[in-house]
Amino acid sequence: MNGIRTALVVGAGPAGLTSALALRRAGVEVTVIERTPDWAAVGFAFTLQGPALRVLQRLGLLEAVLRAGHGGAGPMGRPPLLGPGFPVSVGIKRPVFNAVLAEAGDIRPRLGAGITAVDGTEVTLTDGSIDRYDLVIGADGLNSTVRRLAFPAALVLQRRVVSYGGSSRLR
Ligand SMILES: Cc1cc2nc3c(=O)[nH]c(=O)nc-3n(C[C@H](O)[C@H](O)[C@H](O)COP(=O)(O)OP(=O)(O)OC[C@H]3O[C@@H](n4cnc5c(N)ncnc54)[C@H](O)[C@@H]3O)c2cc1C
Repeated sequence: MNGIRTALVVGAGPAGLTSALALRRAGVEVTVIERTPDWAAVGFAFTLQGPALRVLQRLGLLEAVLRAGHGGAGPMGRPPLLGPGFPVSVGIKRPVFNAVLAEAGDIRPRLGAGITAVDGTEVTLTDGSIDRYDLVIGADGLNSTVRRLAFPAALVLQRRVVSYGGSSRLR
């Protein structure tokens, strides 16, 4: 894959696990680190909407996700993006979704491991170890440590910024 043989993925959430899965399938040797010691996903469950389901279908994971979650008609009477016979959305527990992704890619994250420095492709982890990777992916969420370390001038989301959303059925 364009000379990339090794990759470090920081964060074992949906983005990190999906990236690791795709890289591994492309023949890259992938290491995934996750800072929480018990890999406890923040939040309880979420709803996978049509675009996410389409990506999962392309990855060959749709059946596993449908088995592990609960398909629904979704709000607003929208048609299923994947076509007739498919749910509009799927509700699934976050740890269960993580497990489906990890199992599909045979990914076993190094738990309790974070990152303290990025210097080009040289990475220092919280246990003091230093490694080199051809590619480093920051999949460590909204307040990404990788982004802060690699791009100190990048815009940082202020925690006081809050958004609210919702939907209701018109009768
Ligand atoms: C209340 C709420 C409800 C939501 N509901 C939905 C929904 O219904 N449907 C939907 O599609 N989306 C929903 N979202 C959005 C969804 O949660 C995010 O888009 C998704 O979790 C992003 O995935 P991610 O892998 O990028 O980041 P995250 O899920 O945040 O995962 C990041 C991972 O990186 C780890 N990590 C963080 N820092 C480090 C570090 N320095 N070193 C190592 N590991 C690190 C974290 O522990 C975590 O495991 C919701 C979000 C919120 C807050």
